Amino acid sequence: MSGLLAWPSMPRMHRFRRSLLLTLATFALLGAEDPKPLAFKPWINGTQAREPETQVQAIDGDTFVIRQSVQTNFEAPFLYLLFGRERVLLLDSGAGGLQIRPTIDRLIADWRARHGERPIRLIVAHSHSHGDHHAGDDEFRARPDTDVVGLKPTEVAAFFGFTDWPQSVARFDLGGRTLDVLATPGHQPAHIMVYDARTRLLFSGDMLYPGRLYVPLNHFDDFRGSAERLAAFARTHRIRALLGAHIEMTTTPAKDYAMEAPVHADEHPLPLAPSAIEELRAAVAKAGPVPVVDRHADFIVYPVPARPND
Ligand SMILES: [Zn+2]
Ligand SMILES: [Zn+2]
Repeated sequence: MSGLLAWPSMPRMHRFRRSLLLTLATFALLGAEDPKPLAFKPWINGTQAREPETQVQAIDGDTFVIRQSVQTNFEAPFLYLLFGRERVLLLDSGAGGLQIRPTIDRLIADWRARHGERPIRLIVAHSHSHGDHHAGDDEFRARPDTDVVGLKPTEVAAFFGFTDWPQSVARFDLGGRTLDVLATPGHQPAHIMVYDARTRLLFSGDMLYPGRLYVPLNHFDDFRGSAERLAAFARTHRIRALLGAHIEMTTTPAKDYAMEAPVHADEHPLPLAPSAIEELRAAVAKAGPVPVVDRHADFIVYPVPARPND
């Protein structure tokens, strides 16, 4: 008995040592250990009769998450505000049904008050060009010291300085805080993800979040290509968590809300583990010529009929 048990334990020890060495090598290559997991307070989710139109939670003094109330629009998107020394990036301007600019102006005024009233330019950019991510743009067009990035892939590529959309990764400097911008068409042709090396957060838009990842069938190959490039990026960058643009799943694995649900009781947490990237890559890599709905614990690949390039 003991002999039978003993011989397989040797290769296991080798495997254990090898994986330990690989782990140590990865730390040496890529830097320090992960900080503690993100812990958000509960988000507004429509379960109260009345809730504020927006809710803000700070990740740190330069990084803010804004949730738009589901009572203003069923999409209830998440917006992100990232401050550098010279520029502040607003990623998405909301789904409409509210005035979003007062919340953003207040956050910028508070930040400036903490930084000697230093001037800072606002960049309004978008995870992609669906209406629930740019409905607030008009509120910012006449704002001083503000750029509103266009919605076409060519405009996005030009603004961020892509040399080879969608193959290359662009770098965008906020002033002491350089972001990596990944072109990730598929869900929509102008889709990007933004990686922040300072916080090691990946802002993943509508391509990867706890919900239905809609992929028009005529763009499925683009989506697959984006998933491959994303997985390659993740192999060479430490990622703490993914923060997407919606929550459409419950705390029950693989269970989503009904479409346009007005209340999101028991929402899945906003962050996804970085392991979701490889899980998504593998899922779309094995999807056949006619992809079908593919439920995972934390996201659902959701092919939809072909759409024009909007
Ligand atoms: Zn979308
Ligand atoms: Zn969306």
